Amino acid sequence: MKNPNTFESSELSKGISTLLLCKDCQNTFDFQKLMFKCSSCNGELEYVFEGTYNGRHEDRNDLWKNFALIPLADPGNIVSLNVGNSEVIELPELSKFVNGATVFLKMDSHKNPTGTFKDREASIIFSRCNELDLDNVVFYSTGNTGRAYTHYAAELGLTSYFFMPKYCQYKNTFTIKKNKNNFIILVDDEYPKVGPYAKKFAQANGLNIIAPLHERTECYATIAYEQFQEMPDCDYFVQTIASGMGPIGFLRGHKNLVKFGLEKSTDIPRIICVQSRETNAMYRAYHAGLTSMPEGWVGQLPEDLFEPTLNSTNPVNNYPDLFATLQEGNGIITDVGPEEVNEVSSYFVEVLKERGIEYRSDLEKSVLIGFAGLIRLSNEGQFRPGERIMLLSTGRGDAFSQTLITPDAIIKPDSQDPVVLKQQLDRLWESSGRQ
Ligand SMILES: [Zn+2]
Repeated sequence: MKNPNTFESSELSKGISTLLLCKDCQNTFDFQKLMFKCSSCNGELEYVFEGTYNGRHEDRNDLWKNFALIPLADPGNIVSLNVGNSEVIELPELSKFVNGATVFLKMDSHKNPTGTFKDREASIIFSRCNELDLDNVVFYSTGNTGRAYTHYAAELGLTSYFFMPKYCQYKNTFTIKKNKNNFIILVDDEYPKVGPYAKKFAQANGLNIIAPLHERTECYATIAYEQFQEMPDCDYFVQTIASGMGPIGFLRGHKNLVKFGLEKSTDIPRIICVQSRETNAMYRAYHAGLTSMPEGWVGQLPEDLFEPTLNSTNPVNNYPDLFATLQEGNGIITDVGPEEVNEVSSYFVEVLKERGIEYRSDLEKSVLIGFAGLIRLSNEGQFRPGERIMLLSTGRGDAFSQTLITPDAIIKPDSQDPVVLKQQLDRLWESSGRQ
């Protein structure tokens, strides 16, 4: 019998239906609504695609070419901005660092509209907002996610509230679209206070917190589909991680390909996660043999982080999924310190520059951390000639602006009343003539 919660989508994705499944009680739900948790048991949700799929993709140069495996019903709701389907470039100069293996870089940092892989998330989440008629959206991040979301909200003309830590403001260069009703609020406190305040702000003012974890994870499955199409012969997929959503989504994507009979599970690349040593909670937990992360495991972080983008509020939440991903995918997780990264960064940046590619290492060091992680693993005996390694260039690309965006408010979360803050922002918008 046909499941009443499945949705037969358009011609584009003929044969595939989508539903939301609770991983705990197995209840299913219509995927055409925003849900954070299972409404029956509060369990974690995941998307399930059902039907038959022959791997045919659309003739487009963005991540939406794999529309069939993305949880959106109507292609008319897509907000793309040319996101994804980034090219893969070979960097033979780097082979000498990785025991003769070949390094390929997947250029999300340069193809995507705001210069990071987070645009994948923004495009899919805001296409969903478009489809579900969601406006007045609230989100928070250390920088890249919120910048990407703001850019897409502005494109759609939605009102948005982005909370980011004040110490990350140096990343917020004027290379995104932002209307008068796309507010950026700097939070003058430590990062773990930002998320709870944003949620309080949304709740007190009747606004919509967006982007549940199961939706965000799904966005990174698109990287797996593209790798499978662009570089099927791939031994390792490497990503620098904060909380590991990228690799979790990458394995999910491959499991979909296996499920539809498009590849064998033995063809899935081994996943390598690299952490910055200052924010290496996942690495420490995995090597301590933990299956879940105790509260307080992250510990006190230095004020002046080598790469603040990699500070995540979610390691405790995401860790069980990352653990399962690493176990299932025969994965590896390693870490590197600032000195190991600094040693190789100018060479790496130079190798890109010779190809006319500018990498803004002043704004972000994530890909350099990933490359340093590969060197550490090769020193430990990993890799051999003939192996092919894909490193995801997560961010930031060549956006030359040095000008910072002026924030709409700077707040202290312990003392700022969320209703008063909303009124202030409303007045700001009012005084600009609501343009
Ligand atoms: Zn449930």
